[in-house]
Amino acid sequence: MEGDKPTTLMCTVVAIDHTNFSYRVCSVCEKTLPDNNINSSSSSLCKYCCHFNNAFNPGSSGSKRLFRLLVSIASDTKVFVVIMFDRAARVLFGCSADEFFDFAKSHPSAAVTAGKILEGEILRVTLSKPKNGNAQHLRVVSVVPLWSGFRPAIETLRELYGVRVG
Ligand SMILES: [Zn+2]
Repeated sequence: MEGDKPTTLMCTVVAIDHTNFSYRVCSVCEKTLPDNNINSSSSSLCKYCCHFNNAFNPGSSGSKRLFRLLVSIASDTKVFVVIMFDRAARVLFGCSADEFFDFAKSHPSAAVTAGKILEGEILRVTLSKPKNGNAQHLRVVSVVPLWSGFRPAIETLRELYGVRVG
């Protein structure tokens, strides 16, 4: 990795951290909302724009989830961990983080299974250095699955769990 220019490389997905794949943001200002009290409190006020968010009913009240995934990838020379935000993760999952979160609520093993589904996928990724100096992982700014038979994880999951679409 030279300088701060984005780098494009081919890699294989080694593993996806399925324990913490998304976070909640205010849909008005997109600032991160606290996630820890989701079971004990029904709502939270965005401290940035004072928008009222109802944790139990995100659709109607204006909080939403975005993907944030830690992914181990192998290039031809090394294995390392990158961070994948919403736009890139959607390519692999084929749905929004909210849709995936809802799916995982009714199918608790879905996150683990999604990781397994995506393991071994060959991707062309563009990586950039995080602008935030505290961030420790390179960030995936774009991702292109290279296998012509690639299917987003949600499609395989729906098939595995027998969920009909539409
Ligand atoms: Zn807000």
